[in-house]
Amino acid sequence: ATGLGLPESEAELAFEGALRPQSLAEFVGQEKVRGQLQLLLQAAAMQNRTPDHILLAGPPGLGKTTLAMIIAHESGRPLRMTSGPAIQHAGDLAAVLSSLVPGEVLFIDEIHRMARSAEEMLYLAMEDFRIDIMVGKGAGATSIPLDLSPFTLVGATTRSGMLPNPLRDRFGFTAHLEFYENHELEQVLVRAAALLELNVERRALAEISGRSRGTPRIANRLLRRVRDYAVVKGSGAGLDAVNAALELYDVDALGLDRLDRAVMQVVLSRFDGGPVGLNTLAVSVGEEAETIESVVEPFLVRIGLLTRTPRGRVATRSAWKHFGLTPETPGAA
Ligand code: ATP
Repeated sequence: ATGLGLPESEAELAFEGALRPQSLAEFVGQEKVRGQLQLLLQAAAMQNRTPDHILLAGPPGLGKTTLAMIIAHESGRPLRMTSGPAIQHAGDLAAVLSSLVPGEVLFIDEIHRMARSAEEMLYLAMEDFRIDIMVGKGAGATSIPLDLSPFTLVGATTRSGMLPNPLRDRFGFTAHLEFYENHELEQVLVRAAALLELNVERRALAEISGRSRGTPRIANRLLRRVRDYAVVKGSGAGLDAVNAALELYDVDALGLDRLDRAVMQVVLSRFDGGPVGLNTLAVSVGEEAETIESVVEPFLVRIGLLTRTPRGRVATRSAWKHFGLTPETPGAA
């Protein structure tokens, strides 16, 4: 528990909430996406219409929820939040859609997890602001059309490839979020440190940034662990404290976490560098293939430890080097 009496997980959520930038101008990085969104929102405002539907795609923790909130905030519209797993029947979606107020922004996180029947209802709703509600069963079943208030759907997904084409096509714009550069994460951290009233050396912030997997959420979390360390040890939050705290939490020099390392170990040691198929890899580390593909791999590929080939995943030369291993078979790397 914290001084506020909140359990740590709630304190963490409250902290994340307080950290969320409120406007596109405050949102760090993602220049391209910011410019695209700015234009889309401005045009809608000038023509006094509901902004087009927007799909936000990218690995977890890069700011999709934050952007959804900003979209609502910048266009001065209320926001309703739900998620794919919460929509298991078409009726769940009908209930949400029919209660939207005109112009409301509807955020559906993990939209690729929605039930199929709801997806089909959503097509019509997105296109015509209308749904058909089925009443009764069998021969007596009829569908009753229901007009909806115009709304803007903001969908978030870690896997845009998983969305059926008809759904993907109904978004006016897809924003692909990229991992953040270290200097951008430093900016995020400067703000978080101020909020925590933590005095952190600049090079210590740079170190945390470099080990945050290009992800603001991770950067903020690591900063909190460094804060803990500084509090308990009575040390300042300098480079030494950062190194010690991150070592304690098993965050290595590249920011790889336990699962990243497990995946790399399987590819390197068990399969001598690969190629390894996605499903084999998933089973070997005891994770779902979806998690490996959308959470673990994008970062490993981006930092050049892993490549995807038609025959499977292959470790690169730098991967062998980073893990201090050598290939068994000559030429395998
Ligand atoms: P998930 O899909 O897993 O929910 P997400 O992509 O929606 O993740 P958010 O919840 O929006 O991620 O962001 C996680 C945290 O990182 C929040 O505390 C948010 O304030 C911070 N954050 C994300 N992007 C930025 C950014 N560009 N600038 C500053 N802070 C950011």
